[in-house]
Amino acid sequence: MSASDASSATPSFEVLPRDLSAYRAGNTGIDYVHRFESGRPGPHVLVNALTHGNEFCGMVAVAHLLDSGVRPKIGTLTLSFANVAAYETFDPRQPFDSRLITHNLNRIWSTAWLDGGEDSVELSRARAMRPAVAAADHILDIHSTSQDVLPFWVYPAFERNAAVARALPRPSVHLVMPAGLGSGTPLIQHGGHGQAADGAGAALVVECGQHFKQASADLAKEVALDFLGHFGLVERDVRPPAQTRRFQLLRTHVIQDESFRFTRPVIGFETFAEGELIATDGGLEIRAPCDDCTIFMPARTAIVGREGVYLTRPLD
Ligand SMILES: [Zn+2]
Repeated sequence: MSASDASSATPSFEVLPRDLSAYRAGNTGIDYVHRFESGRPGPHVLVNALTHGNEFCGMVAVAHLLDSGVRPKIGTLTLSFANVAAYETFDPRQPFDSRLITHNLNRIWSTAWLDGGEDSVELSRARAMRPAVAAADHILDIHSTSQDVLPFWVYPAFERNAAVARALPRPSVHLVMPAGLGSGTPLIQHGGHGQAADGAGAALVVECGQHFKQASADLAKEVALDFLGHFGLVERDVRPPAQTRRFQLLRTHVIQDESFRFTRPVIGFETFAEGELIATDGGLEIRAPCDDCTIFMPARTAIVGREGVYLTRPLD
């Protein structure tokens, strides 16, 4: 069932999965996790791809770094492909299904989930990757969106995150989360990265554009190199953009009923006046809590238990 008529068109595939089996055996004891030590002091930076199995841009970026033989000038570089199991289930007839197999790998990074009694492909993978994520000072987690919208950063509203996102040339749109995601613990909020206290480094998600577009893959490569350049791991001229646009996450709506639908076709970045009806979900009405309420990542289809829409307000 389509939650939004604007989203029902079949996407075109400019980027398709490639065989990643050559990258399976890393050097960390964890499949698809590769680590390079410079032998010199410096930060430990993790660039992670495929937290969601059908978000190919990160795969292109990390494969590019590995294929080009990137080595850190200082510190340590870890490169990873997260949910390869889901990625390998890609079917162009159902291109959104390979996002995950059982659990959303980007919602289970709490100790409750990681130390809990349940098991799944994603829980098992998160447990395997946990030491790699916990060891990193700075994390770039590369994602893409189901709809063809502007790229943007997503991060908990800690100054250490904002400072890095502001310093990088692209993207120029920021989605800031003062109270976290509200629907689980993403990879970038694992352990110290989810704590407000000083000490932990930056941990950012970059949403690079639509899953299957070449432009998203191209951007992911640039952002990954910018991120490494910012921390001095590679030689790179990194300058901030002339302008940024920031949005503050107010609420994440998780779909309650399969009748969930938007009141008009949406793809993201639409604005609603205070009190205006955005969507209905069974007996619930999702209304704009403020003027210029701007929505992010509206669901393409109504799947109970998954995020339906993120409600934000513009900060500048
Ligand atoms: Zn994602």
